[in-house]
Amino acid sequence: MSFHADDTRLGPLTDGQTVAVIGGGPGGIGCALTLRREADKRNLRLRIVVFEGKRFGVHYNQCAGVLSPPLQQLLRDDYALELPPEMIEREIKGYVLHSEHKQIALSGAEYGGSSLAVRRVQFDDFLERAARERGIEIVQTRATDLEFRNEEVVVFTWGGTLRAAAVVGAFGLSRAMTATLSRHTRYLPPRSLDTMVTNFRPSGRNGAPLPGLLDDHIHVLLPPLKRIEFGAIIPKGNHLTVILAGENVRTDDMNAFLDLPPVHRLIPKRPEPDDYFKGRFPISLARHSFGDRYVTVGDAAGLVRPFKGKGINSAMITGGWAAQTMCDVGVSERAFREFHRQCSDITADVLYGKLIRKLTGLSAHGSFMDRVLDMAEHEPAMRELLFDCVSGRETFRKIVLRQGNVGLATRLGGLYLLDRLQHPFG
Ligand SMILES: Cc1cc2nc3c(=O)[nH]c(=O)nc-3n(C[C@H](O)[C@H](O)[C@H](O)COP(=O)(O)OP(=O)(O)OC[C@H]3O[C@@H](n4cnc5c(N)ncnc54)[C@H](O)[C@@H]3O)c2cc1C
Repeated sequence: MSFHADDTRLGPLTDGQTVAVIGGGPGGIGCALTLRREADKRNLRLRIVVFEGKRFGVHYNQCAGVLSPPLQQLLRDDYALELPPEMIEREIKGYVLHSEHKQIALSGAEYGGSSLAVRRVQFDDFLERAARERGIEIVQTRATDLEFRNEEVVVFTWGGTLRAAAVVGAFGLSRAMTATLSRHTRYLPPRSLDTMVTNFRPSGRNGAPLPGLLDDHIHVLLPPLKRIEFGAIIPKGNHLTVILAGENVRTDDMNAFLDLPPVHRLIPKRPEPDDYFKGRFPISLARHSFGDRYVTVGDAAGLVRPFKGKGINSAMITGGWAAQTMCDVGVSERAFREFHRQCSDITADVLYGKLIRKLTGLSAHGSFMDRVLDMAEHEPAMRELLFDCVSGRETFRKIVLRQGNVGLATRLGGLYLLDRLQHPFG
């Protein structure tokens, strides 16, 4: 879709222009900070306006706030930002993967570093303050509609109207904004998986203490429950966060998960959980995620590693790349193709991610996962493969194609067949 025979008015951003960013999460702020940095380098007066509907710190965010490497490095190198030490609630040392009867610890130190647990709302607030300090306008209001015109895009909000050279969709999976953009362009939002989150706090209603906060490890379970693809229990400052993901997960699924024996073993005397919160994360790429005068980044574009964490990293990185493209190449559909090419590490991984998701779904039943963990106990290559799958350290493509992993995969296939023969109805 192109508005002009010639793209000159859709070229790189110029002096005096305005860019509107809808959403002040890591994607939106990563984009805004990069626009500011690039404009300063070029001596451009660029007006950058971020619309954010939430008040960080007041409204809840589902995200577990685990910052995985190399996020700290990225903040330092690309944004000249230092994470305040007081924001770090806990150092996450690794993962423990559970099957029905077994468990295996996968240490971050062995494979390139630990992650940091923060409160996501504090992290967003920190980024937002940094943006304000650099002259980016943060407007606390909701964008409600858009109008694409030859020479500009008009953003309607609860607080007024803004005319801009381009709009950045960094609104995550907001149903209202994805529908709005779909109405005005060919954009189709990514498919998503539901999530359900709750917390166990030491000062819960019956006041029971929490045991050891899981030795600073994230515990990952692939339970044999119909709608749940995976569950994770994450140690935070003084509490535990429980996350479930699956298609149409319901509150009953959370109840069933919390009653599973491995969960009881992890939290034997647990207090009452908090309320349950529902959310989503993308599992496919958005279609037509960019066009003349618009580009989507982060979750809105489905630009996340499929089926694993690091959504914050991907959002900041893709937000930054989109900004760089607007300054270097332009704001046309053709220009944003460059941006999408840059994202090929993520986009090329979607197919591999689907494959791994299918395999994970199959492995949750019978005793297959017990056998896999048995194998991992004795084989470092298998442990590394599992670490990469749960941590998001490597793209799935690299994991699948890494030397030696094809052999491992064949043996896993053999184990799976054996398990099916022994437990045909498991
Ligand atoms: C349960 C769960 C746990 C997760 N845990 C982790 C984790 O531990 N680590 C990790 O790296 N990733 C995690 N993720 C993924 C991560 O949260 C996302 O990938 C990341 O936040 C995407 O960033 P974003 O900027 O694209 O979108 P978002 O963070 O969703 O930001 C979008 C922003 O847009 C705003 N907005 C929406 N509509 C409008 C509107 N109309 N007007 C104005 N503002 C609007 C929203 O208020 C929001 O602040 C988790 C996801 C889920 C669902």
